[in-house]
Amino acid sequence: MSAPLCPDCRIEMEAQKYYGVVVDVCPACAGVWLDEGELRALMQVDPLILLSIDDRALPDVQYNPEEVVQRRCPRCAVLLHPYRYLYESPVELDGCAQCHGIWIDNGELRKVFEELHARESVDDEEKRRLAVAQYALESQQRVERANWLASLAVQPAAQAGAAVCGLWIGTDGC
Ligand SMILES: [Zn+2]
Ligand SMILES: [Zn+2]
Repeated sequence: MSAPLCPDCRIEMEAQKYYGVVVDVCPACAGVWLDEGELRALMQVDPLILLSIDDRALPDVQYNPEEVVQRRCPRCAVLLHPYRYLYESPVELDGCAQCHGIWIDNGELRKVFEELHARESVDDEEKRRLAVAQYALESQQRVERANWLASLAVQPAAQAGAAVCGLWIGTDGC
């Protein structure tokens, strides 16, 4: 099987292996072709790989990005269609509707990484907010339990002590 051709430069791309994932990199424009699922596979191993691919791939000095061509899928030869990564992000990639591969211009992998990173920070913030809410809820329940226990204090001391102890097992290590 011959190497897939760069959608921009129409020259053969070089296969590069990252943790078992083979990506195709154009030696001229330093664009990267990822087959379906490869972006996800790389991110699952380590999102930082996106940066190392991007750093390693450098465009040839002769490369002229002004030459606009209609990009075709290196696998299926159908026209690629531009779309926004994660639907609304500012990162624009080109995808194949047939094989679901994606074409990533030089420098765009870094943007994909940064976009992911920004989203992760939002997720962390959300998790912190939920943890605080959970803590507040538990404190509230603790107060209610304490009030209820106080209402049991009218019972004979020994029995009440046993009941109280049973109720608190697991929370206070009684
Ligand atoms: Zn190229
Ligand atoms: Zn395709």
